[in-house]
Amino acid sequence: MAVDKSQVLEALRAVATPRGVPLTDAKVLSEIAVSDGKVFFSINVDANEARAWEDVRARAEAAVRAIPGVVAALVALTAERRAGAAPAQGVKPVAQHRPHGAPATSPMAGQAPIPGIGSIIAVASGKGGVGKSTTAINLALSLRDLGLRVGLLDADIYGPSVPRLAGSRDKPAVDDHKKMIPIRRFGMPLMSIGFLVEEETAMVWRGPMVMSAIRQMLWDVAWGELDVLVVDMPPGTGDAQLTLAQQVPLKGAVIVSTPQDLALIDARRGIAMFDKVNVPTLGVIENMSYFQCPHCGTRSDIFGHGGARHEAERLKVPFLGEIPLHMAIRTSSDAGTPVVESEPNGPHAAIYRTIAEQIKTRIGGASAATA
Ligand code: ADP
Repeated sequence: MAVDKSQVLEALRAVATPRGVPLTDAKVLSEIAVSDGKVFFSINVDANEARAWEDVRARAEAAVRAIPGVVAALVALTAERRAGAAPAQGVKPVAQHRPHGAPATSPMAGQAPIPGIGSIIAVASGKGGVGKSTTAINLALSLRDLGLRVGLLDADIYGPSVPRLAGSRDKPAVDDHKKMIPIRRFGMPLMSIGFLVEEETAMVWRGPMVMSAIRQMLWDVAWGELDVLVVDMPPGTGDAQLTLAQQVPLKGAVIVSTPQDLALIDARRGIAMFDKVNVPTLGVIENMSYFQCPHCGTRSDIFGHGGARHEAERLKVPFLGEIPLHMAIRTSSDAGTPVVESEPNGPHAAIYRTIAEQIKTRIGGASAATA
């Protein structure tokens, strides 16, 4: 049964607010995106009111999920300071999803472990297009091959690529506890905003909305018991990334860079940012490190290979390995079965596995689940 916007508005009309008027009259609703039974919108309030509105957010989400035909609902609560009182770019952590109810007095006050998840690691890059997502999914698969229970969260809400990389357009269902059931592929739970919103759906993300959506993909998902959750971060080192690093208890960050100077400058910024929020850099990976001819296997260092290794040495962070620029890595990803899955005994899987082994050692392997 197709769901339309008027049904969503009708359901929201029954949701009361602290302002004494129905939610639909409180002038706090964003555009409501409805497609294929998936509903997404945000409630935008002033930062001072955020706490009082968390309950409204939960009730709004429940009301929408109760509409027959709705398969997924994601309601974000965004809280911004009014102009004048705004911190840099208006980004302010939203007062929600703090299981311990800790007030946001310190930058790390919002951090809370996700029940059942041992370690959360971020795969990040200073800029887009360096192969961060490709690396993230192949590393997740390699960690799985090393015997860990692994999940993958695509937090790159600006350009979610996990649905493409995993070849799945399935929609997450909702369980009895109102948690989204992640998509299962390759024996791993996967979550991405791309499973909820159509690629063509133009979403305008503002800082607080970004955080709210990511938090829900972390805490409102039935991840189950995992040793490691790999988070494919949004690229860059803006406020959104910084806030994410402050909000989620990250065991460490893996920085993906290409060998060029410009990419390395961005990678350096990434490392500095994680450093600032006390997230250890697990290491640097040089992607597209050298070109390997798919026909003759000849190797050429078209981008000046080795830059990331030198940079890692200079910054005194571990260097985890070099991944060649190879057609098989791209075509396998585009076909929805990353190279570690499609050629588990091939040379590329071996490279990713060697990197994953180092990461496993650094995060303490499966024992992390009880840490
Ligand atoms: P990012 O997440 O940094 O934006 P992606 O992982 O989406 O980057 O990769 C960008 C493009 O580069 C994709 O088409 C991907 O298939 C390709 N790619 C990534 N790594 C490699 C590699 N090592 N060899 C060949 N192609 C690659």
